[in-house]
Amino acid sequence: MTHVFHRQPGATYPVAVAGDGPWLIDGDGRRYLDACGGAAVSCLGHSDAAVRAAVLSQVDTLAYAHTGFFTTEAAEDLAAHLIAQANAVIPGNRLDKVYFVSGGSEAAEAALKLARQYFLEIGQPDRHRVIARRQSYHGNTLGALSVGGNQWRRQPFEPMLMPATHIAPCYAYREQAEGESPEAYGRRAADQLEAAIQTLGPETVAAFIAEPVVGATAGAVPAVPGYFRRIREICDRYGVLLILDEVMCGMGRTGHMFACAEDGIGPDILIAAKGLGAGYQPIGAMLCSAVLFDAVVAGSGFFQHGHTYMGHVTACAGALAVQRRLRDDNLLDNVRRQGAALRRDLEETLGQHPHVGDIRGRGLLLGLELVTDRETKAPFDPAVKLHARVKRAAMARGLMVYPMGGTIDGRHGDHVLLAPPFIIEDAHRHEIVDRLGEALAEALDTPARAPAS
Ligand code: PMP
Repeated sequence: MTHVFHRQPGATYPVAVAGDGPWLIDGDGRRYLDACGGAAVSCLGHSDAAVRAAVLSQVDTLAYAHTGFFTTEAAEDLAAHLIAQANAVIPGNRLDKVYFVSGGSEAAEAALKLARQYFLEIGQPDRHRVIARRQSYHGNTLGALSVGGNQWRRQPFEPMLMPATHIAPCYAYREQAEGESPEAYGRRAADQLEAAIQTLGPETVAAFIAEPVVGATAGAVPAVPGYFRRIREICDRYGVLLILDEVMCGMGRTGHMFACAEDGIGPDILIAAKGLGAGYQPIGAMLCSAVLFDAVVAGSGFFQHGHTYMGHVTACAGALAVQRRLRDDNLLDNVRRQGAALRRDLEETLGQHPHVGDIRGRGLLLGLELVTDRETKAPFDPAVKLHARVKRAAMARGLMVYPMGGTIDGRHGDHVLLAPPFIIEDAHRHEIVDRLGEALAEALDTPARAPAS
């Protein structure tokens, strides 16, 4: 009997009682290997001593101070750390200021509002439109949901959503034409942004928002090389702000502190969450350029936004400890090494699986797309709820993976997202691949391993 209103009301969930590195343990003592970090959150696993000590020490001295009255050392230090990282890795970095909130959706809301307010401050009040991509997720609050392109999440709330324009995603597996080079495809996909800006009227467009590696809606889909460089050029040409959503793919998940650095560009606004606090505290951040910040300072002097828990000192202290762990222990080296090895292992064991259409991703953010037929790439019937079957079969084997349904318009199939902690070792990786193979076999009713050819 429970009074908690769960995600799936009425369902029975195991009771999580403890964490041990990459493992979660339930009330019956069962251990679950966390191969998805919940939803790409727990990048340090579940019992990091340094983060625990930092959180406890912060609560001991000061647990909360409202940002309408005070700043704090933890918030200042964390902001300085993030900007130093951005300066170090993002080519031509524009990010210079950080606004802390409690999660990804809140960061998306702040980004959308700052983009709008910036244009008011500089005397371009007609710029209010936002362009986004069909295959995207930016959060479940109404503003973030409005720009998100996940039809299943949007549909019930459609009449309540603000208008937004959606262009095609960059999704080579399904949309790159036969014989088309990745570069040509990337240009074709990015040029949809220019066409949309021209249709709407450049003087009305405030921002374009996109995930460098699409996470929950598509299962770790990076853009092809050159796509984001072209996007950056188009935004600059029309004075449109580029908002990159690195809530899932940022903070080291791809093996780089900021995923966009690998695409060779930086945004005007970047949002982060998940791996920022690694789940030890709820925290998100909006990083923005000094140009936007200065416009607010010179204009109204007040960013017309805010939440009670923004800049929460305990959350900032926890996140700072997380980020220092990543830096001081070179954990991104392990992300790159284990990420490459996990991808190779998945390709070896599941690459020829009759229902695994694509294996993709970057670093320790990997996805498998499931199809009825590898030739036609036809998705499974959504009524089969394949993703739910995979999750159930994996949990029964003590493995947490993050499967999601395909798009309801049939544009892509069910997928399984893997986002294990940055601390995994070879043995964990082997367990992930073995247990996932068995779970897929049960869910799809196929042999656990493809026969050797
Ligand atoms: N953006 C992206 C890319 C995400 O993956 C998510 C969460 N899955 C969000 C935004 C929303 O973050 P939150 O759930 O913390 O509000």
